[in-house]
Amino acid sequence: MIPDDIRASDPELFGYLDAELVRQNTTLQLIASENFTSPAVMAATGSVLTNKYAEGYPGKRYYGGNQHIDQVEELARQRVTSLFGAEHANVQPHAGANANAAVYLALLEIGDTVLGMSLDHGGHLTHGSPVNFSGRMYRFCSYGVSESDERIDFDQLRDVALRERPKLIVAGATAYPRRIEVEPFRAIADEVGALLMFDAAHIAGLIAGGAHPSPVALADVVTFTTHKTLRGPRGGCILTKAEHAQAIDKAVFPGLQGGPLEHVVAAKAVAFKEAAQPSFRTYAAQVVTNAQALAEALAGEGFRLISGGTENHLMLVDLRPFDAELTGKQAQEVLDRAGITLNRNAIPGDPRSPFVTSGVRIGAAAVTTAGMGVPEMVEIAHLIARALRERDDETSLDAVRDQVGVLCAKHTPYPA
Ligand SMILES: *Cc1c(COP(=O)(O)O)cnc(C)c1O
Repeated sequence: MIPDDIRASDPELFGYLDAELVRQNTTLQLIASENFTSPAVMAATGSVLTNKYAEGYPGKRYYGGNQHIDQVEELARQRVTSLFGAEHANVQPHAGANANAAVYLALLEIGDTVLGMSLDHGGHLTHGSPVNFSGRMYRFCSYGVSESDERIDFDQLRDVALRERPKLIVAGATAYPRRIEVEPFRAIADEVGALLMFDAAHIAGLIAGGAHPSPVALADVVTFTTHKTLRGPRGGCILTKAEHAQAIDKAVFPGLQGGPLEHVVAAKAVAFKEAAQPSFRTYAAQVVTNAQALAEALAGEGFRLISGGTENHLMLVDLRPFDAELTGKQAQEVLDRAGITLNRNAIPGDPRSPFVTSGVRIGAAAVTTAGMGVPEMVEIAHLIARALRERDDETSLDAVRDQVGVLCAKHTPYPA
């Protein structure tokens, strides 16, 4: 994909990029937060817009020469508000974490109480982890999943909310395999007089594609990343009710960021258009179908699915019933050697440390984009099980890697 004269100008660096392209084309990408962007998204990301300073917003910039940039950002805003039926959008956050930071900066004072999902039950670092700015600047308390069905425990959530009186409730997760309905969150937020933020980082593409219910009408603010199931460039976005629009815009700039990455904003506009096409609805539905097929096949191999399965693009797998000795860390390393890329992940109530874990998280969005369907999901489950079962046998791992290569050759994200 890199022109020869450019490669020749810096073989060392572009050699690494070539190698990464080969890796993406020839191994299985099962990290739940990853996807393959279209050539159009990559063209916009690699465009001359990277040269331009555009601090401010369309029509209100601090630098000259922004007539075309303004059209780009305005188009991105129009497309995303229409895609999600939102009142206002800010397309400038550099990433999902920045989008969340901007919301906190806009709606909270330092030290305010916030209620979010606990990290070890599937919440994100920006939902109050002590090692993250969120946990250091605000007083986070948490809810989690119930022990019985491993789904969000709304009784507990309501109890904590009544006791702690948060100013903001954060819905949304980074490792939760079930639908997240916004209604019970809204009801509890109203009962305690809290604002409601819905962090749709993972599922924005499923919402846009009609495979998951939309939180936009009921949440005060919705944040998301554009690079996970939504399949756009690496970046963040905030949708908000009109009453919070000004506060959110001021929090993103000048509150938190400097010049926006307008080349990425352009690529977001491309992705928002792609997500409005009928083919994106087909993709979103297929992602869920594939995830369910993969989960079912893994259960057939002796793994336990957290909450018994999945309703979105990802699953959390408890490795212990398959092999009590096998840790998430080991599984990740073995599968890497076999050409299968995924990440270890703590499971609810995990007795092992977050660096070791008893589980892995698996996502079906990228392989779906690459064109795989249910038969491939069943094969992937067999390959995962075989690699883990025969993990001490290099010949077996090589054999799995070969089969992975065959699968990827049939469904290559970026064919030559
Ligand atoms: C991925 C994720 C984020 C952060 O996105 P980055 O782009 O990595 O900063 C925030 N919230 C949730 C729930 C996520 O899954």
